[in-house]
Amino acid sequence: MTDIPFTPTRSPRPKPDDASLAFGKVLTDHMFMMNYEEGRGWHDPRVVPYAPLSMDPATSVLHYGQAVFDGLKAFRGEDGQIRLFRAERHAQRLNKSCRALCIPEMDPGLIRESFEAVVAADHDWVPRAPGTSLYIRPTVVATDVMLGVHPSHSYIYFVICSPVGAYYREGVKPIRILASDNHVRAVQGGLGEAKTAANYAASLSAQKEAAEAGYTQVLWLDGVERKYIDEVGTMNIMMQIGDEVITPPLAGTILDGVTRNSALALMRDWGLRVSERKISIDEVMQAGRDGTLREVWGTGTAAVVSPVGELGYKGDVIRIGNGHTGLLTQRLYDAIMGIQYGRAPDPHGWMSVVKRPGAGNA
Ligand SMILES: *Cc1c(COP(=O)(O)O)cnc(C)c1O
Repeated sequence: MTDIPFTPTRSPRPKPDDASLAFGKVLTDHMFMMNYEEGRGWHDPRVVPYAPLSMDPATSVLHYGQAVFDGLKAFRGEDGQIRLFRAERHAQRLNKSCRALCIPEMDPGLIRESFEAVVAADHDWVPRAPGTSLYIRPTVVATDVMLGVHPSHSYIYFVICSPVGAYYREGVKPIRILASDNHVRAVQGGLGEAKTAANYAASLSAQKEAAEAGYTQVLWLDGVERKYIDEVGTMNIMMQIGDEVITPPLAGTILDGVTRNSALALMRDWGLRVSERKISIDEVMQAGRDGTLREVWGTGTAAVVSPVGELGYKGDVIRIGNGHTGLLTQRLYDAIMGIQYGRAPDPHGWMSVVKRPGAGNA
């Protein structure tokens, strides 16, 4: 951490039990803040006590959704060190999302420092129980007060953190997914590659329909032909058919997941045959029927991997792996978690240690 000013809170909040942690309900004591004004650029980075934001009702983000975010985690290793997973790649992606929404980019080094500074301030909030972590949520929103539609001239960037519980408290459990043929998430030329608020608002009604039909998540098909697989819920999707691992290519509608990228790198290290190619829902359903569809899983920061046990499409249902997590899915889960908690070597240099004042950082 360099010289980011730090104002410690005078009223620390009670910390929840590691055992009672859910996702994103409890926020920590501090947040990072930075401002942008046209002509002045990004300025005034600081770590301050967590507090509500006050906004004029005419603030543009509240009306037109010029907002981007990202999500990454800090892990407490068994050696006591706190490490961030692929902070640099998350910083780059936040800037990529900014570009898509006409938000001025930030210095990527400063974005990384913003993660480190807030985690260092709240290092006591990084939970200790196995499988727990500190979720970090960087967010940029437009703050011009005006009702005209145009890119804002002012923004705030903030980073808040939430201790989160183990995603799979009762072991990794396969989900049921429903391919939607009436809703789409993104189209070429749209915002699918950006982590922006609108994409999540647009997903809610499809998610609600899937839940009402007894499914856990929506499987998104492409927005033009409704034929090719894009993503699952807010995760990237992968599958193994025969000896080929397949994931849809980053061709304009799919979010470039950091977990996706990490899983692909590991599977290539392991010598597996990995294809980033278009795959149609018909090909998947056929592979499910003829027995060559071995595993399907989602990837994302929250769960790492999420095995798919059942896939519904136009009234047909295929079962995958008899309700069990596949071997490759489990191997990826163990490998990524091993690196994140500092139990396994980190050959790609994905982890970075967060330096804490007076904590004996070796
Ligand atoms: C965040 C997100 C992902 C997963 O990205 P990670 O970097 O692996 O967390 C995938 N798809 C969508 C739509 C997302 O928002």
